[in-house]
Parts: sequence; C-alpha cells; structure tokens
Amino acid sequence: MLHYSIAVIPGDGIGPEVMEEGLKVLGAIEESHGGIRFARDVMDWNCSYYLQHGKMMPENGLGILKDYDLILLGAIGAPEVPDHVSVWELILPIRRAFQQYVNLRPVKLLKGLESPLRYKGHADFDFVVVRENTEGEYSNMGGRMHQGTPYEMAVQNNVFTRYGTERILKYAYALAEKRSKKSVTAATKSNGINHSMPFWDEIVKEVSQEYSGIQTNLYHIDALAAYFITRPETFDVVVASNLFGDILTDLGAAIVGGLGLAPSANINPERKYPSMFEPIHGSAPDIAGKGIANPIAQVWSLAMMMDHLDLPELSTVIMNAIENVLQDGKVLTPDLGGTATTKELGDEIVRHIYQTTR
Ligand code: NAD
Ligand code: MN
Repeated sequence: MLHYSIAVIPGDGIGPEVMEEGLKVLGAIEESHGGIRFARDVMDWNCSYYLQHGKMMPENGLGILKDYDLILLGAIGAPEVPDHVSVWELILPIRRAFQQYVNLRPVKLLKGLESPLRYKGHADFDFVVVRENTEGEYSNMGGRMHQGTPYEMAVQNNVFTRYGTERILKYAYALAEKRSKKSVTAATKSNGINHSMPFWDEIVKEVSQEYSGIQTNLYHIDALAAYFITRPETFDVVVASNLFGDILTDLGAAIVGGLGLAPSANINPERKYPSMFEPIHGSAPDIAGKGIANPIAQVWSLAMMMDHLDLPELSTVIMNAIENVLQDGKVLTPDLGGTATTKELGDEIVRHIYQTTR
C-alpha cells in the first residue's frame, strides 16, 4: 500500500468550492484503484483566518507543512484583505521555503472543447509553460519614497540569480528532451529591460549548448504573447521568468477554454520538500458562493500530482474522466456554456472514474 500525506489549503472564495470536488475525486481514486491512500489534513489558513489572527497562517505554518508529502491549494484572496498581503504571506512563502522553483502550467486543449481561436484545433495546443517560481520580478526588494509629495516614487527590484536562472532553464531543457517536438522557447525582453534580461539570454545560450538535440527560440515577451494566438502549434516547452510566466499562462488558459480549466504544479524537483498543486485561477469573488465555479482546473491539478508521484496511470484515469465528461457535453458549468453546478460537474467526473474501472 502506498501512503502519502497531503496538507489541504482550500483558501477563499471558490477555492473551498472547487477543493471539495478535488477531494471527492481523490477519494474515488483511492476507492476504485486500491493500493493507495492519501491522508489529508485541512488547514483553515485564508483571509478569514487573517482577519481573526492578523496573519495568513500560524507562526510555524511552514514548519507544519514541511512534514507533509504534498500540498493541495484551492485559491487565496478576498476583497477585505489586500492581495499583496494574502499572496505574500501565504503562497509566495510556501513556494520559496520549499524551493518549488518550477511552476508547470500545461496549455493543452482537452477533447470535447473548442478553442476560441477560430482556425485552431486539438493538434495545435499541446505545450507546457515552465515558469520560474521563486525569484525574478516577484522579489521583496524595493520601496516607496516621498509619499505625499509630488516626487512620490516606487522602486521594485527584479532579482535574477545565476543559480536560480540556470536551474529553471536546465529543467526546461530536460523536460523538452522527454517530449516530441524537442524545442524550448525562452521569453525575454532584452531590448527593454536592461540588466536582468540580457543576463537571462546569456544563460539561455550557455545552457542550450548542453542540450544539442533541442532547438532554442528566444522571443521578446510581447511578440511571444502574440504568437500564442497566431501560432500556438509551434510551441513545445516555453520557459519564462516569474512575471512573464504568470501573464503568459492566463493567456494560455484563455486560448484553451478559460481559467476554469487551467491547472498548475509548483514543483521542488529535488523532492526535498513538498510540492504544491493548485488551479492557476484565483478566488473569483465575482462568482464565489454561487456554486457555479468550474472544478476542472483543481481536478486536473490532482492529475499533475499523480504524475509527480510517478503514477502516470492514475493521472490518465483522472484526465480520461475529465475528457469524457467534456465530450458528453451534458454536465458543464456556465463558463463552458452549461448550467451545471460545481458539485454536479464534480459528481460526473467521479462517476466516470468508477465507470472506467468497473
Ligand atoms: P480570478 O482567477 O479569481 O478570476 C478571473 C476571472 O475568471 C473571474 O471572472 C472569475 O469568475 C473567472 N474564473 C476563475 N476561476 C474560475 C473557475 N474555476 N470557474 C469559472 N470561472 C472562473 O482572478 P482575479 O479576479 O484577478 O483575482 C481574484 C482574487 O484571487 C484576488 O484576490 C487575487 O489576488 C486572487 N488570486 C489568487 C491566486 C492564487 O490563489 N494562486 C491566483 C490569482 C489570483
Ligand atoms: Mn496568475
């Protein structure tokens, strides 16, 4: 029997709503496939916790999480708490403390879905964005000065270390070696950002030397964003800094059906610390409480978790169930053009999991 422990952080808004369906799917996998158990502890660390305690998680929160094999996150953020507080005190510390320096975000058009891009079909969307997840533009260096005067200013430093840049690029190239198109596209802005991006480009060139079978493309971020729309079929592995990767992947989600379908894995490749799995979307205050959020991004993040655990057959079970539901087209949430609730869509995925295993 395989045993794994999971720290579950449902979070805010639609986070707990989609997490409930994710946990249901996890239970279905345990029950239908035997031989595997996931012990789950649910943490109530979110914006309500913050309003009560003045912090997003307990003092020793990271110490508590460290002992788990895996972390599952719903989404964080509420109108009553500034976003820089909720994100900076919960998500970013987890990504950093556990050296989850790889943020994997697939851009794949699932069977049963159509892309909003008129002339593109399934073969055109099957790439993955590797986002640097611990440094870059999301650094805590800088400050605000001269507040209340006409000379007020804000300075934000971007931090690109050689160590951090090399390791994300090496991960991207190693991933490309395992895929069919054998290409890495790196996002840059060396014509506009003076220090960090030329440095990034140089390291791209260095690392690319070590992977002779892989083709390298270096595109400016603005052009690259446009290419996501005009020629998505040319991409295989796209590697980007923290901010560029963040922006590119909301765009990536949009071209394959929307944020409700976009998962992500925050990986510590050395497996020294727990990795974290979450949808890329936020807490969606505009639809929270209505029970209509799409749970697929959360459920897909569980499939990514299975891949991380080297259980590709369980990942396939989950993905097949999702695709079967989409192909049936009967039980869909409003973002997919249907009228089903979050729970109904979750139940339908679970039903398909049992169906394929009986
Ligand atoms: P968002 O992702 O929450 O929502 C953007 C739009 O997509 C909204 O219209 C929303 O209704 C829709 N959407 C998102 N997920 C959906 C789903 N599963 N099903 C159907 N529709 C869905 O982004 P936002 O509005 O910019 O941010 C809201 C809050 O979430 C903020 O507090 C922000 O800081 C936070 N946030 C958190 C995370 C995270 O926890 N990792 C990520 C992004 C934003
Ligand atoms: Mn984002």
